[in-house]
Amino acid sequence: MKIKEASFIGSFVKPEQFPEDIVPEIALAGRSNVGKSSLINTLLGRKKLAKTSGTPGKTRTINFYRINQHFFLVDLPGYGYAKVSKKERHSWGKMIENYLAERENLREVVLLVDIRHDPSEDDRIMYEWIRNQGYGHLVVATKADKLSKSRQMQQIRRIKTKLAMPEDATIIPFSSLKKTGMEAVWDLLKIHLEA
Ligand code: GDP
Repeated sequence: MKIKEASFIGSFVKPEQFPEDIVPEIALAGRSNVGKSSLINTLLGRKKLAKTSGTPGKTRTINFYRINQHFFLVDLPGYGYAKVSKKERHSWGKMIENYLAERENLREVVLLVDIRHDPSEDDRIMYEWIRNQGYGHLVVATKADKLSKSRQMQQIRRIKTKLAMPEDATIIPFSSLKKTGMEAVWDLLKIHLEA
């Protein structure tokens, strides 16, 4: 994918704030610190477009990026913080639910998991949620540079089993550090964007 233009549109919480443009949209989900912002920056070839972990307020908003005037990439708030109250969990869930319900042009929700670890309970719940909405054909396993090629393959198989992924779903090992997996991710995203 040739990125001619990539811009940050804004951080939103409520459906009435979401952009009204009728363009295809791809959302990215995953626990905080999984490498979601790094992946967005890597995919778009921009160093600091998506703010990485530690940016105050970032975790509680839905962040929209417009690419080539043609589609949106959407960064969903990360989950899995240890210190999150029940109330915060609830409002996080509501935010995602509203988002999924509102976006008619949402083509795919990609789940990011850390290739080194078995999916957490939250990852499994999130994936089930995504699947139940009819998405989840693509899972990206981040930080692939931290494992050897053979360990990567082992973990991919494990993650696929633990998430109970269907046969037609794909896991792509990805590294923002080494910039590997980019082509494979774009190839699959393009299929959804052009469908
Ligand atoms: P987010 O919270 O999901 O947006 O995660 P970030 O993109 O902010 O990344 C969290 C941490 O993981 C940062 O310290 C990154 O430098 C690191 N990280 C992200 N992607 C990679 C990767 O592909 N390889 C390695 N080794 N570290 C990564």
